[in-house]
Amino acid sequence: MQQKMNRSKKYYKKTFKPTQDIADPALFDEIEAMAKEMGAVDFGYVSNIDPGLVFKGKELPHPHAIVFSVEMEKEEMGKAPSFDTFLEVSRGYTNLGRISQAIADLLRSRGFAAYPGMNLGGSSDYPPIAEAAGLGAVGYHGLLITPGGGARLRINTIYTNIANLPERENPHLWIRDFCASCRNCVRSCPPAAIHHDPQPKPNGAMECIDVVPCRDYFSANWGCAVCVKVCPFSTAGYDLVKQGFDAAQNAQPLPQQDIAAEQSDVAALKNGPDSPANLPTQPVASAPAIQIAVIGAGAAGAYVTQSLLQKHTTANIDIIERLPFPHGLVRYGVAPDHPMVKTKSWAFDRIMDDERVRFFGNVALDRDITRQDLKDHYDIIVYANGAPGNRKLGIPGEDKANVIAAADLVAWYNSHPDYVDFTPPLDGRHATLIGHGNVALDVARMMLAPEDHLKSTDIRSEALKHLIQSSITEIDMVSRRGPSQSSFTPRELADLIELPGVRVLVDPKDLERDQPDNITDPLEAARRQRQLDIFQDLATAENHAVSASDKIVRLRFFERPAKIDGGEKVTAITMEAMQLKETHPGQYSPVPTGEMRQQKTDLVMRAIGYHAVPVEGLTFDEKRQILQNDDGRLLDKNGNPLPGEYISGWARRGPKGIVGTNKIDAEQIVEHIIDDLPTLPVRNGEDSGRNITDLSALLSSKGVSYISKADWTKLAKAERHRGSMRHKYAEKFETMEEALTYLSKTG
Ligand code: SF4
Ligand code: SF4
Repeated sequence: MQQKMNRSKKYYKKTFKPTQDIADPALFDEIEAMAKEMGAVDFGYVSNIDPGLVFKGKELPHPHAIVFSVEMEKEEMGKAPSFDTFLEVSRGYTNLGRISQAIADLLRSRGFAAYPGMNLGGSSDYPPIAEAAGLGAVGYHGLLITPGGGARLRINTIYTNIANLPERENPHLWIRDFCASCRNCVRSCPPAAIHHDPQPKPNGAMECIDVVPCRDYFSANWGCAVCVKVCPFSTAGYDLVKQGFDAAQNAQPLPQQDIAAEQSDVAALKNGPDSPANLPTQPVASAPAIQIAVIGAGAAGAYVTQSLLQKHTTANIDIIERLPFPHGLVRYGVAPDHPMVKTKSWAFDRIMDDERVRFFGNVALDRDITRQDLKDHYDIIVYANGAPGNRKLGIPGEDKANVIAAADLVAWYNSHPDYVDFTPPLDGRHATLIGHGNVALDVARMMLAPEDHLKSTDIRSEALKHLIQSSITEIDMVSRRGPSQSSFTPRELADLIELPGVRVLVDPKDLERDQPDNITDPLEAARRQRQLDIFQDLATAENHAVSASDKIVRLRFFERPAKIDGGEKVTAITMEAMQLKETHPGQYSPVPTGEMRQQKTDLVMRAIGYHAVPVEGLTFDEKRQILQNDDGRLLDKNGNPLPGEYISGWARRGPKGIVGTNKIDAEQIVEHIIDDLPTLPVRNGEDSGRNITDLSALLSSKGVSYISKADWTKLAKAERHRGSMRHKYAEKFETMEEALTYLSKTG
């Protein structure tokens, strides 16, 4: 890479004397063909580059430019931050140098001035120049997004004196609007270097990234491409994002009579002769050689499937999901106003597209099939069934009406089939939310958000109506820990603070009592400092000057719930004050003081975590609330491995980590499977002597209807269509009955 850069510099040493500045149009075809042959992806031209795009103290040899891009490998970029990613980025820059020098040589040989831009550390801001050349549009991560390599591109220019460059219209500028509703990269950037909105610079150009923290993080981690990795243009691809964007833009409201007809069809099916058990199932398929069951179609199941497909060429995989529809917490746990996190579901669908994968939705273990059924039908079973239980407070009064899990509310507004008949009690004025994690912040935001903030999301329509009518105007969010121990992220907190009409308050006394733990990780220390800076702003007298119309969220620290008071319903909650005690050098833990305070409240919600649930025949570790396993290999009650049975995701490690953590988990499990294959008692269904038949035959014999992959493809498309008719991102199907009604009507 350095060699190429040094060579590019040589072009600037002596001034080239051009003999012409108007080119024959055939020349452009020639250089485009040559560049593409050498690996260029997109090509464009800019005349009279905006001087605001030239870096301070630099000059361009000519004001016109030929612009091109090269693509970096998706797989290597997906490992970011890593040394492999660093190498791939270096390879991209080397290609830029090679191609730009070849074009410059060709143009000079024809008498035109041509100066290859530096592939790194150039004189001008390449992404906006490429945008001006019509190659794509600059995303909020500051990189160019194009139909080709999404955000996995690197750009270079050749400055030239050619005055008749064939400039083109830019058809990609819609991306700016998309970014404004996405901000996935903003939330994910480890050092929070990406601006919430691009900032205008004094020279009129826009700045997307604060370069100093980005550069520092980049250097300390062998490069970084987290912003590229999380970008929907990288994960789902330009075309899918464009389809979704266009659908939302072209949305027309669905006529009321159509909505009513849909609802009455569902009601009729629930009670009528076309009940789910009477509908046909898929035909039986022949038994494959190595058959794998993945239990759970959430992130853990999707990543296990992806890794199995990549690592085992003859593995056939059946994904078996308790709910009718796939995607687990991405569908039912992510807040509707974070639609871009939900676009991970597109990537999961791409995994399911593989012909070796089948989907059986609405098939529950211990309800429709048993573990023994699985053992009879599959060589390998991977449980990826998550942690659907939510932890309880364990205090008196918890069984009263108006005490709910925050997770119930999350599932309800996300159209979870188990919550169709749930109605959260939002008729009071004050709510108490126990927990300071991201789920608690999501719930507070969703409860207080104005209609405009939510109406275009995929929120359940009934839930939106109920939330808008809610009379809750104050939420106390309670944590027994101190401000510096908060577990939510600055980005999530900012999302709450930025809600119009909502004021988030912190008691300044809580900041005075705080005792920060010693932290050695500089990034974690930086994150904590940002969080504390935000708390300082929220504690000022100016911020506490609320207006009568403001909805209030109080972040309360150093308190734990001791007792829930009232009759049948909650009327108050008794809180016990906590104080921090140094339990290890530099480490502080909250301890109770015995000092009590009573707070009137109308609703108590707990958001203190999840736990896995037992599976019949498998050993449940009561203490850790997970299925007993050794690094993903399931164990019997004596601690011996259960051959061919594995576990991945939250059910294996507990409810920790983000969606992507499941990918790392999945890769480890699949490594174990590959290692164990030679020692497993059964490796080939046909040769094993076991009676392996197809699962669909078993389900048919039991009268269990299921949603197949083809069904889901239709349903997913219909959800987007139904959403676009209501000016929403999607209108989800809620129940099996509703899905079957749709499928039976559409054939
Ligand atoms: S630090 Fe990483 S994620 Fe953040 S802007 Fe830089 S490259 Fe992107
Ligand atoms: S992650 Fe979202 S906001 Fe960031 S560049 Fe990609 S589309 Fe734009």
